[in-house]
Amino acid sequence: MIDLAIGAELEAEVERVRGLGREFLRPLGIEADQRGAPVPPDHPFFAMAWRMGLGQPLGVEERPGRRGGARRGVVLAEEMSYWDRGMSVAMPGLGLGGPPLFAMGTPEQKERLLAPFRDREHPHWAAFGMTEPGAGSDVAAIETSAVRDGDAWVLRGAKTFISNAMRADWIVVWATVDRSAGRAGHRAFVVERGTPGVEDMRYEHKMGLVAYESSSFTLRDCRVPAANLLGGDRHYAERAGFKGAMRSFNATRPAIAAMAIGIARAAFDVARDFARAHYALERPVPRYQRVREKLARMARKLEVGRLLCWRAADLADAEQPNEVEASMAKAFAAGIAQEATGLAVDVLGDAGVTADGYVEKLYRDVKAMDIVEGTGQIQRIVIARRLVGLPSA
Ligand SMILES: Cc1cc2nc3c(=O)[nH]c(=O)nc-3n(C[C@H](O)[C@H](O)[C@H](O)COP(=O)(O)OP(=O)(O)OC[C@H]3O[C@@H](n4cnc5c(N)ncnc54)[C@H](O)[C@@H]3O)c2cc1C
Repeated sequence: MIDLAIGAELEAEVERVRGLGREFLRPLGIEADQRGAPVPPDHPFFAMAWRMGLGQPLGVEERPGRRGGARRGVVLAEEMSYWDRGMSVAMPGLGLGGPPLFAMGTPEQKERLLAPFRDREHPHWAAFGMTEPGAGSDVAAIETSAVRDGDAWVLRGAKTFISNAMRADWIVVWATVDRSAGRAGHRAFVVERGTPGVEDMRYEHKMGLVAYESSSFTLRDCRVPAANLLGGDRHYAERAGFKGAMRSFNATRPAIAAMAIGIARAAFDVARDFARAHYALERPVPRYQRVREKLARMARKLEVGRLLCWRAADLADAEQPNEVEASMAKAFAAGIAQEATGLAVDVLGDAGVTADGYVEKLYRDVKAMDIVEGTGQIQRIVIARRLVGLPSA
């Protein structure tokens, strides 16, 4: 049974995000989009937000003695993304780097790698590097190799589209010790900033979500201390490496889905306000009769999408399996978010497609929500395999 109350403490956090969203997140997101470059890490807003305790809402955080981290994550993810999804990922914090550290890291690794993030004076970022030029959906196909050499591991390969990698204190880099072993050969390494062999770091130009960088880089004979093998040798019993990655995705998918709902809600509000303004002027053109019907349908879908996110998050908080629910939330939310931005463009008509219009940006921002953390097609495969009784991985 889903408890729909979020409590006074979280409500106050949402209110705080709302204030910052209106004043900073949306204007900075629009500015980055118009400039065509991410918001730099030394922008004063990041230091201010970090000092206030505000960071990326992604993933399950470790809050000793406190339940509800995943629910908190989806609620804040939706609200931040409502104001600007690009900015919500550009925010300092562990981001996608957090879940694998919490799921697989040794106590020593957690202590050491989380230490910089306790410094609230200077913003810090982490990143998660799985995708390669030749391996996206099929993560088993990663080619970055890891070879043990004394008290270090040597990584060789290339990673692409890694969020915030360029500004990260450390990146969880996935590599393989034995390609013929498939997922059982996967290992996760923490590559710290300044490690020799991390080369060609650059950001990719995206059609939307410009506020944060999606970085690509090469690992050229990159020596990583053995102490940075996430979980240590013992963790990598049969298939445990890949299971660690999967646990990460199951923790972050509901929050990514909630971000799609945030974009959808932003687009919906623009369309609704535009229609309202026309009714208020008593100039309803015939097409607004149909618009009303479309808006009502969209409002229903937004509610359904949010409930799917909350259910997947609540299962994560209860430490119950949530793979199918997380995939359902992600597939549904990304789909309706595209529908909502399309509707907003339709309702506004020519005003919706002008380059200085806000909905035009949302329309470009939203597409990536169907790609990140597993495409819609992949989510449907995960769901279908479970429906017919097959393991999904
Ligand atoms: C904005 C953005 C941020 C990202 N951030 C990160 C990050 O921080 N870290 C990271 O590691 N990666 C990140 N990624 C990469 C992302 O995870 C991959 O883009 C995604 O997994 C898809 O991989 P691909 O792009 O190689 O597409 P492909 O896997 O090549 O897929 C191409 C198309 O084929 C379809 N397809 C693939 N396999 C199948 C199949 N078996 N059956 C049917 N259809 C299939 C897909 O649905 C898709 O439509 C990011 C990507 C974007 C766009």
